[in-house]
Amino acid sequence: MGMCDVKKTTIVDKAFLIILALSLATCSSPVPPTERDLGSISTPTTESVSPVEKVASPTTESPPQMEGEFADVVFMNGVVLTMELDPSQAQAIAIRGEQISAVGNDEEVSQWIGPNTRVIDLQGYTLMPGFVDGHNHLFSQSQFPDQGMWDVQDLALSFGVTTSAEAGVDAQLLDQILKVDQDGELRLRASLYLLHATSCGEDLGFWYQDHPPSRPEGAKLHISGIKVFTDGGSCNRPAVSFEYVGEGHGDLYFSQEELNQIVMDAQGRGYQVAIHALGDRAVEQSQNAIEAALDGSPNTPRHRIEHNALVRPDLVSRYTEIGVVAMIFGKFPACFFVGDTSKFKYLTPPEYISWEWPYRTLIDENPGLHFAWHSDYPVFSSINPMEHLYGMVTRKEVSEDGVTICEPLDWAIDDRLSVEEALRFMTIESAYSLFREEEVGSLKPGKYADMIVLSANPLSVTPDSLKGIQVWMTMVSGRVEYCSSEQQWICPPSGGGEED
Ligand SMILES: [Zn+2]
Repeated sequence: MGMCDVKKTTIVDKAFLIILALSLATCSSPVPPTERDLGSISTPTTESVSPVEKVASPTTESPPQMEGEFADVVFMNGVVLTMELDPSQAQAIAIRGEQISAVGNDEEVSQWIGPNTRVIDLQGYTLMPGFVDGHNHLFSQSQFPDQGMWDVQDLALSFGVTTSAEAGVDAQLLDQILKVDQDGELRLRASLYLLHATSCGEDLGFWYQDHPPSRPEGAKLHISGIKVFTDGGSCNRPAVSFEYVGEGHGDLYFSQEELNQIVMDAQGRGYQVAIHALGDRAVEQSQNAIEAALDGSPNTPRHRIEHNALVRPDLVSRYTEIGVVAMIFGKFPACFFVGDTSKFKYLTPPEYISWEWPYRTLIDENPGLHFAWHSDYPVFSSINPMEHLYGMVTRKEVSEDGVTICEPLDWAIDDRLSVEEALRFMTIESAYSLFREEEVGSLKPGKYADMIVLSANPLSVTPDSLKGIQVWMTMVSGRVEYCSSEQQWICPPSGGGEED
């Protein structure tokens, strides 16, 4: 494929190319909350265990004994999708300060209601963890007129994105984001990936080494890793082993030795490496580089391959052999594949079309591997997670006119995902891809209260209705950051309930 919206991409590439500023501001580390609400809640520490294996039983927590331990806010009488295994659904959730105190049925959670607790009746509506977008360019957008840092955060929050990952931060953008954080104006969690090589293959060198990885527990801002482009897509063409008509085999930016060295250097300094790879030659080179850096060890640095858009069949099993974290797109470009648009220059020949977005195959043939969703907004797609969920589950796409539906071709239909799978990739698994699964991505006691209320339950509506689900409330760390103007009844006052 290599499909990228050419118009929009040009804008983003400019952002990438902005001349590096001289600033060497250091990463600020917002102080994580030190006070746990309940003495009986233990902080999860085992990093290597898959998040699905750590299941809290909410009924085992002791209810508050003293007034100071009651919840600030309790949501009751709803459908709470926890993204945990037990319980996967609950009725109610209690929040105190920035964190979740209890999840369970109405009766269990009602024990956390004290004299000053704000109780909200969900009236059967659905509450779930906020979406975790594992890779986008949200803050890059703020470098353009009429799009301030506050505006772009507003946009993401209004669609229920509570954690964002900026996948390509140069020195100037880093400066701006650090300032937003220092000014206390970071409203969603942001994990940063510092740019080593740009979308056009320009090597920015080792400037990032002045900003070591930093992931304080509970902090809104993390510097998580570096971002490297290994092939084209948003600039130039994806590197493929077949031949694009009249366009050759695409553009690979590094030799294998060079990429190996980049991953090795970054890994040695504690960075996670996120490697952009659209075409199969780029996927292969990225797999090789991660394999060489890990040298037989498990992928504890959680090195990721971004996009995985064209995967040659012999590369499929290598994801598990190496333990790569695979980042996948959501919103499927069905309109492009049915010829609704002709803005992309390079087309995959029909005999290789089964290599395109083979996510069903990748998931089925790599059981237990960590897959995570990314929107890649605005390079290629919408920020609205519901459009991505709809795309993953149906492989249909709403055309640019906003009405016409593009149906997927036969080869694409086979790669549909279930709603349950897709939601996990969009929450707890994408949190894993950012080293945040101990803090967010699911609802259980001790985790941060990053959650959203929806107009409908994605698990019970028809697949075609997924695209129309609206976010009514978005909460980050117990604070309401977005409330639909028509659904104010569902939003507690910002900052939680009254404290004495
Ligand atoms: Zn991107």
